[in-house]
Amino acid sequence: MSSPISNKTLLSKRITQMSASATIAMSQLARDLSAKGHDVISLSLGEPDFDTPVHIKEAAKKALDEGQTKYTPVPGREELRAAIKTKFKRDNNIDCEINQIVVSNGAKQSIANLSLTMLDEGDEVIIFSPYWVSYYEIVKLGLGTPVILNAGIESDFKVTAEQLNNAITNRTKFILFSSPCNPTGSVYEEQELRAIADVVAKHDDVYIVADEIYEYINFTGKHASIGSFANVKDRTITVNGFSKGFAMTGWRLGYMCAPKAIAAACSKMQGQFTSGATAFGQLAGAHALLSDMTPTNEMRKAYRARRDMMMEKLKEIPGFKVNQPEGAFYIFPDISALFGKKHGDTVINNSVDLCNYLLQNVHVALVPGSAFGNDNCLRISYAASDEQLKEAVRRIKKGVEQLV
Ligand code: PMP
Ligand code: GLU
Repeated sequence: MSSPISNKTLLSKRITQMSASATIAMSQLARDLSAKGHDVISLSLGEPDFDTPVHIKEAAKKALDEGQTKYTPVPGREELRAAIKTKFKRDNNIDCEINQIVVSNGAKQSIANLSLTMLDEGDEVIIFSPYWVSYYEIVKLGLGTPVILNAGIESDFKVTAEQLNNAITNRTKFILFSSPCNPTGSVYEEQELRAIADVVAKHDDVYIVADEIYEYINFTGKHASIGSFANVKDRTITVNGFSKGFAMTGWRLGYMCAPKAIAAACSKMQGQFTSGATAFGQLAGAHALLSDMTPTNEMRKAYRARRDMMMEKLKEIPGFKVNQPEGAFYIFPDISALFGKKHGDTVINNSVDLCNYLLQNVHVALVPGSAFGNDNCLRISYAASDEQLKEAVRRIKKGVEQLV
């Protein structure tokens, strides 16, 4: 007997309406092209090219040898949460109690936890644009409505307090941004954050989600945390993680400090989804936070030297307008001057066209700015060796010069 007609589809609306991560998609395209034998330089994925510092790996090995292989408390092991508490006070002037801290399987999960626990259908989340690619989809996953505030290259890609003031409505649940910023490398200075905090402080029920995952890759010498300001500290959720500053992307370890009710809700959510993060990784994470920061500082110096080198080299590329980034490991050139140009039958009308052209013709993988909310730009990750970076710029220049 045939089954009755139904409207069921294999996949949910939730997933069919979600875009795949453009950073991950682009790095996969680069891998596919390499697998076909092409010499591809991928500056697409935002991932440190450094290995995790040895002393952190040793701490994980020790924990493994000691049998730290079991489930952990969902919001994190006491040792790690205590280390995070110390770190927040030491580096960020944020006072938090242990039960405000939730450890997760990467900062990405922390943000997803927040979206899933704080939002109901129609709640608005103000996202500062250019934004990290996953913010938009994660907010949608929580049934929230992303409200995008744009900042172009002329304003150092930074949204102003005035823009924020005009965008807040009675549906605004939280604002979401990263500083140092992925994809622009822009760093919000203390007075800029204070102005933003003053706007939020006028609304009792608006929260701030401050993503500080690039905290240790800040070339201005001083990282400011909005969560330390008295007028918003009780309404700020500070998200951080080990992926960038400690070169631990594959460890999947992140954390947040949130008001207690939100932290408890995120822990409840995680308890049904993933449980606590990896046991031995957490012990290594605690060790990382409390021990010698020399490797992190050395990596920052290396990124800075590469930033300087790239700023010089990119000037040689016609049609690339570059803003100096002050942190993270990205440059976000405005390439809109190239729109309308052609190579054979290929016309460059937007950032996706240019990225595809460069990948196919000169085998350099970058990420289109449209994935980050700004189609005039593209993102270059300079977390790669000097040789790769120099060769990539040489190739990009060659590709751009072939456009007429
Ligand atoms: N926030 C930003 C701004 C990022 O660039 C990334 C990329 N890794 C994340 C969060 C997620 O980091 P994690 O590896 O800890 O999930
Ligand atoms: N956050 C990095 C990036 O922006 C890693 C990839 C990802 O998690 O999306 O490229």
